[in-house]
Amino acid sequence: MSVAKWETVIGLEVHVQIKTASKLFCRCPNKFGGEPNTRICPVCSGMPGALPSLNSRAVALAVRTGLALGCRINLHSVFSRKSYFYPDLPGGFQTSQLEPPICETGRFVLNTRNMPGAHRQNPEIRINRIHMEDDAGKCIHATDSASLVDLNRAGTPLVEIVTEPDFRSPAEAAEFMRQLRQLLLYLDITDGNMEEGSMRCDVNISLRPFHEGGGGKFGVRSEVKNLNSFASIQEAAEYEEERQRDALESGQALEQETRHFDPDSGSTWAMRSKEGAPDYRYFPNPDLPPVVFTQSFVDEIAAALPERQEARFKRYTGELGLHAEEAGILVGSAALAGYFEAALALQPSPKRTAGLILGNFLPECSRREVEPAALMADHFPPARLAHTVAMLEQGKVSLRVLQDLFRELLDGTDEIETLAEKRGLLQVSDSSALEKAVLDAIAANPDEAAQYRGGKTKLLSFFVGQVMRVTKGAGNPALINELLKKHLER
Ligand code: ADP
Ligand code: MG
Ligand code: ZN
Repeated sequence: MSVAKWETVIGLEVHVQIKTASKLFCRCPNKFGGEPNTRICPVCSGMPGALPSLNSRAVALAVRTGLALGCRINLHSVFSRKSYFYPDLPGGFQTSQLEPPICETGRFVLNTRNMPGAHRQNPEIRINRIHMEDDAGKCIHATDSASLVDLNRAGTPLVEIVTEPDFRSPAEAAEFMRQLRQLLLYLDITDGNMEEGSMRCDVNISLRPFHEGGGGKFGVRSEVKNLNSFASIQEAAEYEEERQRDALESGQALEQETRHFDPDSGSTWAMRSKEGAPDYRYFPNPDLPPVVFTQSFVDEIAAALPERQEARFKRYTGELGLHAEEAGILVGSAALAGYFEAALALQPSPKRTAGLILGNFLPECSRREVEPAALMADHFPPARLAHTVAMLEQGKVSLRVLQDLFRELLDGTDEIETLAEKRGLLQVSDSSALEKAVLDAIAANPDEAAQYRGGKTKLLSFFVGQVMRVTKGAGNPALINELLKKHLER
């Protein structure tokens, strides 16, 4: 094996769309898509004289991001105008933060567990800064001769996370993006939808001569803009590694430049060199006062940060006895995990609580195409979830009856046992009533009973089915099993 001659150095600039109800400086809804130009107002469509006013929820989410990444939070930061011309940027400038940004100097330990063959174990990636800015609109290239502009996205809030040049391979950079997305999803900071552009990143990459243990002067970098999938981050960086290595080995000088990635060919092309770099003429936005808040605002956000995802996962699979898949889904979102725990504080059955959330509640959210958070709040708060679990646990209703009545349960105010009672579906745990159904089933199927007694014990489920049918699914399955065995086996 040849000794590596070059070391790859990568730094990322990640843009994240954050989950606020409205845009960064106006009250227009912050939502993906929509009929073009229906979510706009004078502020976000750049009308002269329209005055922006800062969304405090966006500030809170930026602080939450900073705290999750171990940053120092600046109690005083400034919005600047970053001037450039683009048809989907109606004001002729983006409102961003230069100095000082809202957060600085954090860290993220990259977990290399899922990176077989990684050269470094769990490297620490330093965060240089996090700042807030607004997004641009979108150009729709409608025909060869005409482009259209949709400003629905204009003015929606972003946080930009800038790392130090601490990655040493394309795989590390792509893996960071995956883990960062998991973290921000967990904290409900973004919807993380990569196809809709909720997370995009610029890859800065250079090579330098390899020294054992690292170190040495950085090489000339290129910056590949606007990558919106894990695969394209990795492919673009790998393409650049090769292109830069070829140039360096053939004695060509590299230029600092901005490049574009073409996912179809897997290659990058130069957009502009450093000489052609725009002068943004940054200056403090005169329409916006500095962003100032107190340490107690920060402390409150810190206090509301949930338990770390990994610790929670361990607790769920250990102490609470959940399967890894169940625990994985629950800790995918702090809101969902919080819901689970709030219900668990009211009754003691983790398995059933998880089962009801995963088997009934979440599928119903998908069917209705609503966020779990909305359905929890409006229809099925933790207290109702806990009560429903208790009814299952006490054998008042069967799982099957719950399945059938779940939608109705969500849409009304009657609790599950009331709904079941109204339909005569309360679970029969009364053994004399069930015993009669069991004896009837055996009497009505003498051949099967004989076969069972002759050793074909698989027929037990046939009899369970018969009894369930008579009791319309309301028979307690454990009790039915027990009674059937008792009567078939004697
Ligand atoms: P700019 O603002 O001009 O884009 P910055 O110095 O803010 O430049 O760096 C932007 C990104 O580029 C950061 O993520 C940083 O880590 C990365 N970076 C800087 N120098 C290099 C280099 N020589 N090789 C790779 N990445 C670099
Ligand atoms: Mg840059
Ligand atoms: Zn607006």
